[in-house]
Amino acid sequence: MKDFIYLRPSSRDEATAEALEPDTAFLAGGTNLLDLMKLGIAAPARLVDVNRLELDFIEEREGGLRIGATVRNSDLAADARIRRSYPVLARALLAGASGQLRNMATTGGNLLQRTRCSYFYDTAMDCNKRSPGAGCSAIGGATRNHAILGTSDKCIATHPSDMAVALAALDAVVEIEAPGGQRRHVRLDEFYRLPGDTPHIETCMDPGDLVTAVVLPPPLEGRQIYRKIRDRASYAFALVSIAAIVRMEGGRIGEARLAFGGLAPKPWRAAELEDLLKGQSPSENLFDRAADLLLQCATTAGENDFKIPLARRTLASVLREATGAAS
Ligand code: SF4
Repeated sequence: MKDFIYLRPSSRDEATAEALEPDTAFLAGGTNLLDLMKLGIAAPARLVDVNRLELDFIEEREGGLRIGATVRNSDLAADARIRRSYPVLARALLAGASGQLRNMATTGGNLLQRTRCSYFYDTAMDCNKRSPGAGCSAIGGATRNHAILGTSDKCIATHPSDMAVALAALDAVVEIEAPGGQRRHVRLDEFYRLPGDTPHIETCMDPGDLVTAVVLPPPLEGRQIYRKIRDRASYAFALVSIAAIVRMEGGRIGEARLAFGGLAPKPWRAAELEDLLKGQSPSENLFDRAADLLLQCATTAGENDFKIPLARRTLASVLREATGAAS
């Protein structure tokens, strides 16, 4: 690992000012960043530790919750308010990683973790995300875990987070503090960028920006489900995952919020799918049409062809359970 300077600021102003220096990265739980550094994929000259910036809070705010960026994933999943009012988030957190990793991983770090594309982690292979303009080894290579929605001819990697999929369904907002103390709020759906021609740019963050919190709106009525399909029962990334919040009204779907993981370079919301479901009576025909709409622009790459039928079946199963059509 390359030598680096370790900095431990005591204020957010100091932290964001330090992060304006070139070649600087924030360090929170380190569960992804330290792996990247050990493998030579990230080599920051300066690390700014954000663990002493008093961002370890979960507070009530305007009927919802404001979750500090350094709240550990295990603490968030165990919080009684999350378990009671946002169970989709608790379940997504517990579906991610291992107990040991969840004890270290933070809310902000989870949002900002990098893809698990195996070529990204292999410095002998070309990767546009690691080295812009180098090419993409996944295209024409092993693609079993890769994306089928929102990809480009430069990158087909998926976003690995479970937590972010649940946050997308909940319409969470990311709170960002820029150097100088200006704060802005970005909907999770707009926080991430699709790869396009610049897959190395993954979010709307600017140099020096620090994620300080995630804000959850007031709890929604309805049944909340997080379903994750993966190759083994624990410690595996999603092949397909779905966060669903569905409110029924007199036998019809009053409102449906759906976000998908394992299918795209970011947590995937499909507004047109939610519009289709609203006001309808649940039926197998409706679930089929919903899957058609979700997958109409899907592009597969051979080994990941199976994600189309898998996503279709998973969506139908989740909607059956969420609408009560399964009982
Ligand atoms: Fe790199 Fe993206 Fe291609 Fe993977 S899919 S090798 S991350 S450019």
